[in-house]
Amino acid sequence: MGSQDITTPETLPPGATRLGPLVAWEKDAFDGDYPICVWHWCDKSEWRAKAAREGWTPVEDAMCPAWVPVSASAHTLVSLDPLHLEPSVYWPDCCGMHGWIRDGQWRGV
Ligand SMILES: [Zn+2]
Repeated sequence: MGSQDITTPETLPPGATRLGPLVAWEKDAFDGDYPICVWHWCDKSEWRAKAAREGWTPVEDAMCPAWVPVSASAHTLVSLDPLHLEPSVYWPDCCGMHGWIRDGQWRGV
């Protein structure tokens, strides 16, 4: 997806539309018929914490902050324009980011 070239949250992945400083979305059949995917700028902090807890050394390349795309197919797509997903979006394993996507905007919890 070309995200390897992007090293700051100020630069969006190609084709993505910003919802907030660290969240964007893209119209894409990323997962079956679900029409969009959601990008977040992931600092990998939860992965680092997990590695520290469990005593293993993470691969540093995989721990670089980056835009990460995920399917939103577990969510109800209430509206595409403006984008509205229910329920809230949460990334507990990688960085702990949690918020709502409503009215085309990200609102952190
Ligand atoms: Zn994350």
